[in-house]
Amino acid sequence: MRMLGLALLVVVALGVSVGITFRAFSQPQAASPGGSVQVKVTAKAAGPVYSKSAYDVTPLPQAKIEELAKKLTPAEAEVILARGTERAFCGNLTDNKMEGVYVCRLCGLPLFESGAKFHSGTGWPSFFRPVDEAHVRNVEDNSYGMERTENLCARCGAHLGHVFEDGPKPTGLRFCVNSVSLVFVEKGKELPAESRPVKTERAYFAGGCFWGVEDRLQQVPGVIGAISGYMGGSSKSPTYKEVCEGDTGHAEAVEVVFDPARVSYTDLLAVFFRIHDPTQLNRQGPDFGTQYRSAVFAADEAQLTQAKEYVEKLRGLPKYTGKKVVTQLVSAKDAGVFYPAEAYHQDYHLKHGGSCPLPPE
Ligand SMILES: [Zn+2]
Repeated sequence: MRMLGLALLVVVALGVSVGITFRAFSQPQAASPGGSVQVKVTAKAAGPVYSKSAYDVTPLPQAKIEELAKKLTPAEAEVILARGTERAFCGNLTDNKMEGVYVCRLCGLPLFESGAKFHSGTGWPSFFRPVDEAHVRNVEDNSYGMERTENLCARCGAHLGHVFEDGPKPTGLRFCVNSVSLVFVEKGKELPAESRPVKTERAYFAGGCFWGVEDRLQQVPGVIGAISGYMGGSSKSPTYKEVCEGDTGHAEAVEVVFDPARVSYTDLLAVFFRIHDPTQLNRQGPDFGTQYRSAVFAADEAQLTQAKEYVEKLRGLPKYTGKKVVTQLVSAKDAGVFYPAEAYHQDYHLKHGGSCPLPPE
């Protein structure tokens, strides 16, 4: 796997700053901390943002936040929108010891779990970590002459509280949260739709060195995650060395977890065939061997049908006139298990820069 000069990105997600101000929500009589402070959040304009636990955490547009805010009582709005603080020992969740999840009162995003709650004696519900780091956004808060870190819901910007570095193990953090910013859902009770992760599907592609394939697919809007691994071989839990030696029959492959509401399987096929050369047999650029073969490992019959249709269309394109598309289209039954590769192969391209021989687009 050698350096390739310039590898073009399939999709460039343009990050733009979106300013969301809470000023409009401030109560006229508010004496709350920082009620007139504007809060800036950053959003990717090109596509949705997902957390590792597969929640859509794309910052909500201002109009949606205003619509959601209509349901709040003045006391709730005072804390959530105007960054107020409820009185200590007055919140209904401070001493709650039941098992369950605490979701954002404004947008429903799960924020904390009972397993991370502890008794701090401060008078506010306290947690040593959020349910997912991407669900809580930290911002600097210099109000009242203090240097504090404020916590907001990452999706709607609701004020939650502050985080301090005097919490218990394992994080040493104390998320001090207003009860009023949270809604508790007891374990076993059904979560509302807005508090559930997105329904995901999986797709598997092999197109040469998995570092680059993973990197390109990871950037497609609607893709939640992509990991490098091995598929289509005979042995269980193969190592990189075994696959390199070509003994196991595995291909370097990438598992893609995607949100079918945002990106279709056919869209992923289109990207896959754009980022590698499907006419090269058992190689990709300078990488030779069956482990570098071009293959689509279908997760189900529907994917197999779509892949076959897509390849049929490709064969009719002028680009492939006189050439043979040699991509293997493998059924779910024959594809077998996807084995994630060793940790050092994951996000390799992201960590180490251009290191994969992918054709320019
Ligand atoms: Zn929220």
